[in-house]
Amino acid sequence: MHKFAKTTLALNGLARCLFAERWLSSPKSICRGFVCAQPNSSCGQDDVYDVIISGGGMVGSAMACSLGMDPNLESKKILLLDAGHKKVMDSVPDTFSTRVSSISPGSATLLAGVGAWKHITNLRCNPYKKMQVWDACSDALIIFDKDNLEDEMAYIVENDVIVAALTKQLDSLPDNVQVKYRSKVVKYTWPMPHQAAEFVPWVQVTLASGETLQTKLLIGADGQNSMVRQKLGIPTVKWNYDQSAVVAVLRLSEPTENNVAWQRFLPTGPIAMLPLSDSESSLVWSTSHGLAEELMQLEDESFVDAVNSAFWSNENQSELVETAGSMFRTALSVLMPSAGSPRQLPPSVAAIGPKSRVMFPLGMGHASEYIRHRVALIGDAAHRVHPLAGQGVNLGFGDVACLTHLLSQATFNGKDVGAVQHLLEYETERQRHNLPMMAAIDLMKRLYSTETAPVVLLRTFGLQATNMLPTLKEQIMNFASK
Ligand SMILES: Cc1cc2nc3c(=O)[nH]c(=O)nc-3n(C[C@H](O)[C@H](O)[C@H](O)COP(=O)(O)OP(=O)(O)OC[C@H]3O[C@@H](n4cnc5c(N)ncnc54)[C@H](O)[C@@H]3O)c2cc1C
Repeated sequence: MHKFAKTTLALNGLARCLFAERWLSSPKSICRGFVCAQPNSSCGQDDVYDVIISGGGMVGSAMACSLGMDPNLESKKILLLDAGHKKVMDSVPDTFSTRVSSISPGSATLLAGVGAWKHITNLRCNPYKKMQVWDACSDALIIFDKDNLEDEMAYIVENDVIVAALTKQLDSLPDNVQVKYRSKVVKYTWPMPHQAAEFVPWVQVTLASGETLQTKLLIGADGQNSMVRQKLGIPTVKWNYDQSAVVAVLRLSEPTENNVAWQRFLPTGPIAMLPLSDSESSLVWSTSHGLAEELMQLEDESFVDAVNSAFWSNENQSELVETAGSMFRTALSVLMPSAGSPRQLPPSVAAIGPKSRVMFPLGMGHASEYIRHRVALIGDAAHRVHPLAGQGVNLGFGDVACLTHLLSQATFNGKDVGAVQHLLEYETERQRHNLPMMAAIDLMKRLYSTETAPVVLLRTFGLQATNMLPTLKEQIMNFASK
């Protein structure tokens, strides 16, 4: 298993032991990493929410919708807090925005289940049926497609459209779900796991306005720099990659049946072109910080030339790797004559959307614990990945589905929503899914960040062999589509 996965599991195991031991023993020793609530008689029971979700990005908004629509939770008082403004469907611009996500079929099912998917498809959403991933240092490639292009592999959707669709759905929910925008949380006060009469037993949430709220369960959906995670002192394995992503809206040279997602691994990082419409695609170009800065400074025309060259040029290929790769491919095609597909070239780019270039530094992060007493972390607050596999928000939506299911079940069985038993189940289930995915993404990033001939040869053989094995490809697609 990968190093960080091991480290995280080890930390997690240790934390869980401490957790169980301390909870079941002395109440005094329980405050590991907690600031205990001070006696506070001014907080009345009326202000107590069953669930407060801190952070109304894509994941937090989906969590609020999902809890609000669960029949077992209809009597629960739920509050979503976000520091930003309300994003409504009517204010989504006519032009494509720069931030998009590849949404897996599993995430689309979740969004459909909470009633947001119909708003998304009514506005803007582009399915793709095929994905070609190839290496700039060799001829190796892998093509993923679903049952000969009958089914959608995934959907490209703008992040703002997802949030606006969820907001529309939240507006239609009964009063038990409230949303407060422009409400930045500035302080959390944690309860003691064992109630003492003079202490407030709930999590207290203080807003910048000075208002204080209380909740039986706090869900931290406040993104990669999560204040919830930091204030709880949850150990986090994280590092910055030596890369930034430059994103932009691309105008294609001519309209085409734009239903393929393209990704090429350059020695400096992967470049992806994701279909938005017949004539537009979204660019995610992960590259060294220096090159990213340069790309941001280029005139539009030179930027377009750089994008076309990055997809088309063969300047990084060496004769040795090419010869060895072609011999290996020939041998494979003798063994499996019908397997594998020919390489295609992506459409050429003619222009970029006005002011559409934005840059993001990239990193990896994983909270070794997703839960504490009356607290759960979801989305980027718990895990952050490199965008090369388009999995970040999909992992977050997976958290939402899992946590909703467990809270619904717990409520049905008459249990306290903030009780640790079902929160631990959430943590275990999600870490089992998220950690292997994160390790695979990190490994891919490292494997493709080198031009060293033996590594290039190894990955060339691996990619070519995988491309010839439909069952293995099917398994990879199934894992990524959850
Ligand atoms: C270039 C790039 C491309 C990507 N492409 C994909 C892709 O194709 N597919 C995919 O699945 N993922 C992709 N991702 C990852 C994806 O964007 C993230 O995983 C996702 O945005 C995380 O959503 P979130 O809701 O957890 O966090 P965020 O989007 O960070 O939302 C956090 C929210 O919390 C609020 N907040 C924070 N602090 C406070 C506070 N103190 N009080 C109140 N509110 C607060 C913020 O206002 C914000 O609204 C990509 C990422 C990058 C950088």
